[in-house]
Amino acid sequence: MVSDENFRKVKPYVPGEQPKNDDVIKLNTNENPYPPSPKVLEVLGNIGNSSFRKYPDPEVSDLVQALADYHNVKRENVFVGVGSDDVIAMCFMTFFNGGKPVLFPDISYAFYKVWADLLKVNYDEIPLDNDFKIIPDDYFKENGGIIFPNPNAPTGLVLGLDKVESIIASSPKTVVIVDEAYIDFGGESALSLIDKYDNLIVTRTYSKSRAMAGMRIGYCVGSAELIKVLNSVKFSYNSYTMSDIAIKTGIASLKDEDYFKQTVGRIVDTREKTKRELNRLGFTFLDSSSNFIFAKHKDIDGEQLFNALKKNKIFVRHFNSEKIKDYLRITIGTEDEMKSLIDFLKRYLGYKEV
Ligand SMILES: *Cc1c(COP(=O)(O)O)cnc(C)c1O
Repeated sequence: MVSDENFRKVKPYVPGEQPKNDDVIKLNTNENPYPPSPKVLEVLGNIGNSSFRKYPDPEVSDLVQALADYHNVKRENVFVGVGSDDVIAMCFMTFFNGGKPVLFPDISYAFYKVWADLLKVNYDEIPLDNDFKIIPDDYFKENGGIIFPNPNAPTGLVLGLDKVESIIASSPKTVVIVDEAYIDFGGESALSLIDKYDNLIVTRTYSKSRAMAGMRIGYCVGSAELIKVLNSVKFSYNSYTMSDIAIKTGIASLKDEDYFKQTVGRIVDTREKTKRELNRLGFTFLDSSSNFIFAKHKDIDGEQLFNALKKNKIFVRHFNSEKIKDYLRITIGTEDEMKSLIDFLKRYLGYKEV
């Protein structure tokens, strides 16, 4: 019988549930409730057989160029991958090989810890303060690299650009990754600092604000030197990461800025409205700048509420870890979906007027 003594043993990241049925209101994985731009669907309709038959462009040059133009940087500053999960995993593999601990917040994107364990990277989880805020000073110490999301997940709280910069500036010799998965929904991007700091990587994704989670497109922007090393590692691991369909639809999405702004604006409006409603129902929450709200009820246990919602086919996310177990992370859906959520909560909490 095979022995597992040579196996790599890891505790994997647990993604939010993807139900097979369409009859649930899905507010559990921060997907965009609106379709991608019609331009994306148009390009998709014109995909020919060569996109299937042939290997895709290993350099992904057209998408890299389109992203460079979009962000006003050089193509040498852009690296793309199969979702930002792939990009960040590549960054861990490429940049976090020192003996000193990599720093990230104790309440943050749970995948950081999983990659660190998988790749045997030493790390130190830095506690947020009692208001769930990142304290920049706590990162001003020796490290093997730093990563944090801005806005943070699952809190939704944004860190001001001056504070983000203070963290980048304090560790000039190691790579600092700012994971901007949610920046289109609020906050100031660190992209403006790319020319100033050669240790900075900013990661982005198409999965949330661009409504393309299913296409798996992510990228990062950084100094030409960092991007070059990142590409060397990628080409040592898997040359063909992105399908031609992802490349073509990814470019199309960038060409419809009006639609992008419109849908993001709608989600932000719905978020602010939902905050007011939740407040009336006795919830407290952090002031989210993302496309979700991290909320807890004054009387009702997080897990109980999670289960009650699930039974009524409304899926949200609950994390069973000590500091945040009272909270639910609720993705912002359409106006109608949020109305269904609020109506259910009113009934459940015993409010008369529905
Ligand atoms: C969703 C998310 C990602 C990963 O997104 P991809 O779908 O892999 O592009 C990365 N970081 C944070 C903080 C996220 O919430």
